[in-house]
Amino acid sequence: MVTELPWDEETGTLRRDLAAGMMNPACKHAMEAALQLREKYGASITAITMGPPAAEEVLREALAMGADRAVLICDALLAGSDTYATSSILARAIQKEIPGCDLILCGAYTSDSETAQVGPQLAEELQVPSAAYAEHLEISGRTLRVRRLVDNFRETLEMECPALITVSMERYDPRYASFAGLNDAFAQTEISVLNAEALGITAAEREAYGSRTRVRRVFVRSAQKRNVVITGAAANAAAEFLDKYQRKISAVIGKSIETKKQAQT
Ligand SMILES: Cc1cc2nc3c(=O)[nH]c(=O)nc-3n(C[C@H](O)[C@H](O)[C@H](O)COP(=O)(O)OP(=O)(O)OC[C@H]3O[C@@H](n4cnc5c(N)ncnc54)[C@H](O)[C@@H]3O)c2cc1C
Repeated sequence: MVTELPWDEETGTLRRDLAAGMMNPACKHAMEAALQLREKYGASITAITMGPPAAEEVLREALAMGADRAVLICDALLAGSDTYATSSILARAIQKEIPGCDLILCGAYTSDSETAQVGPQLAEELQVPSAAYAEHLEISGRTLRVRRLVDNFRETLEMECPALITVSMERYDPRYASFAGLNDAFAQTEISVLNAEALGITAAEREAYGSRTRVRRVFVRSAQKRNVVITGAAANAAAEFLDKYQRKISAVIGKSIETKKQAQT
């Protein structure tokens, strides 16, 4: 629950270094899609994340699932990044570490802030075509065919690689990491770590072009319940009810309603 997360009251950002780390559930579906594409077409898979040092464990899990390589972007200077900053930093890291990559797969959204913005923003930063909530992917030559279900209708899109796709959580059910995979991932595999300097990001630039969102306040909204008793004949009670709550009801239903009194004037 977001309310149980450790917040930094001053900056209004999440203390990710104190939060229990786990691989974002939606990212596991993206990882599974990458593994199935490699099995079908051949590919090399790089898992990349921006986070506190503890995020290394999540990358080892991705290696244990079958990723060939892992890159951690980690620097205190980058802490508290909003989605704009996150996607522009990821874009730099991808251009530096995986130049010429054909396909970027993201989860549809994260389990903490769920904005679903990073994928499409990253595609913008990299100037590649993108589609969200993919449930099936096929590749023919440089052409990617994406089947997705959006607003209860299914569509198939085609685009040229390089491209970016966010993967639906309804498909590509993630496999479990094998013991051998876990052993290799935690015992052997080297993880590349990039700091702000390696990405050419200075404190001044961070100040100027960093996060665009400012968190004003983080608080837990308390739901207050209050009973209101309206007595009397049904018609009068209904009229009184409408008089009292007309504006709230109109706001909820998105159209104005007239009370009996108004109708008579
Ligand atoms: C409760 C809460 C509310 C927030 N509200 C906002 C807000 O309104 N606006 C805003 O700009 N920021 C907001 N943030 C900050 C935001 O969470 C971070 O910027 C975060 O890194 C990315 O946004 P997201 O979690 O919504 O990602 P999403 O866009 O939901 O993530 C989609 C996918 O993008 C990829 N991705 C996301 N983050 C990373 C990463 N760090 N490294 C690698 N891949 C990644 C993953 O594949 C993920 O599945 C909020 C944070 C919290 C905890």
